[in-house]
Amino acid sequence: MKTDAFIGLGSNLKDPAAQLAMAVAELSALPDTTLVAQSPFYASSPVGPQDQPDFVNGAVWLSTGLAPHTLLDQLQAIEHAHGRERLKRWGPRTLDLDLLVFGNLVLNDNRLTVPHLELPNRDFVLQPLLDLKPDLALPDGTSIATLREQCPDNRLRKLPPPDYP
Ligand code: AMP
Repeated sequence: MKTDAFIGLGSNLKDPAAQLAMAVAELSALPDTTLVAQSPFYASSPVGPQDQPDFVNGAVWLSTGLAPHTLLDQLQAIEHAHGRERLKRWGPRTLDLDLLVFGNLVLNDNRLTVPHLELPNRDFVLQPLLDLKPDLALPDGTSIATLREQCPDNRLRKLPPPDYP
């Protein structure tokens, strides 16, 4: 059985758009997984400390036979392969991958919270999700479109196509 999984991608170090493009290719190549769609990439102002470069964010829609924790293992392996450094909370990072939505799963354990806890508060997550699937809703029925309307604006700028492959 396959599940629709939505992954958020973010980077603000070492050519962020290239980091994201590479991560999309790596996510597409995960076992028992296919890429359904890839969102445009957006530039966003950092959350928290402002003395760091802007982020590039995007999202992908995967169809996967992996279990949620196995998928998280894979996301973390990709992050580490990108030499992820994270010196402080909300600080700069080479690659951040978040499991945003996993079918209708609602889960909260010591490794994984799904849907992702910060999802409703981040326009740089909500907008790419909307691009991927305009009628996407959380398991409790809340539509992503409604959350996007209610979300504070973080000066999101869609990157022109030449900036992402
Ligand atoms: P961060 O680097 O700030 O995204 O946080 C990574 C930590 O969040 C890891 O220890 C994960 O186990 C945990 N985590 C909890 N829920 C999620 C999720 N939905 N996606 C990714 N990481 C998660």
